Amino acid sequence: METLRLSNLSAIEGVQHHIFSRHGGCSQGDYASLNLSLSVGDDDGVVQQNRRMIMEHMQTTCLAFLNQVHGPQILTVDQQSFSNGIPESLYIGTGDAMITDVPGVALVVLVADCQAVLMADPVKRIIANVHVGWRGNVNHILCRTITEMQGRFGCNPEDLQVGISPSLGPCCAEFVKFTHEIPERYWHHKDQQNRFDLWALSREQLQLKGVSPENIHVSGICTRCRTDNYFSYRASKITGRFGAAIQLGGP
Ligand SMILES: [Zn+2]
Repeated sequence: METLRLSNLSAIEGVQHHIFSRHGGCSQGDYASLNLSLSVGDDDGVVQQNRRMIMEHMQTTCLAFLNQVHGPQILTVDQQSFSNGIPESLYIGTGDAMITDVPGVALVVLVADCQAVLMADPVKRIIANVHVGWRGNVNHILCRTITEMQGRFGCNPEDLQVGISPSLGPCCAEFVKFTHEIPERYWHHKDQQNRFDLWALSREQLQLKGVSPENIHVSGICTRCRTDNYFSYRASKITGRFGAAIQLGGP
């Protein structure tokens, strides 16, 4: 099972993260092979088997998922969420960002072109994982996730380390209807072929919120160009979702 890591997040003691590729799982056909999504038409039993495989790989006891909808909700799981113990699989709810201070809970965002934005505060020991499509950029979900981390856990944006997963690159993020979809203040991220640099846009939003530029690591891998390694919705409408996971504690 191949996983990608970002050096700034790897350097934090007591935090583990894994960005899985599409390889190493059991799904067949369009979903081959490490599809982790239960809502794209793949066989549920096989997806559960894939999820158990990443659990083993991470040596974790709990995988937490969202019902991702490109919406505004930010969900937090804290110690009080687990009065009955930590389950193996946790469905946190409908939303596109999750935050936790609980060791042993792996926050998993599923993507195929969108960005999974992994965050860790090594000082306050808080992590977050955010699903960011262009709608998420337009809705300022990164900024609002950090605001929640500040308000609820006292995080300082300057302490945050952030990693951006493989996702649609500036080579492939063409928006034909950008005048309706993307506010004019972001058009400086567009080239002459109406392709947006969404990596730069996320970076700009993070920096405006106070994250240090050197603490933002972008994988720089375009999913649509690299369907050999990742799922891409723009490349094929029927496809799987790969996972990006972050957890406090573990090996
Ligand atoms: Zn590309």
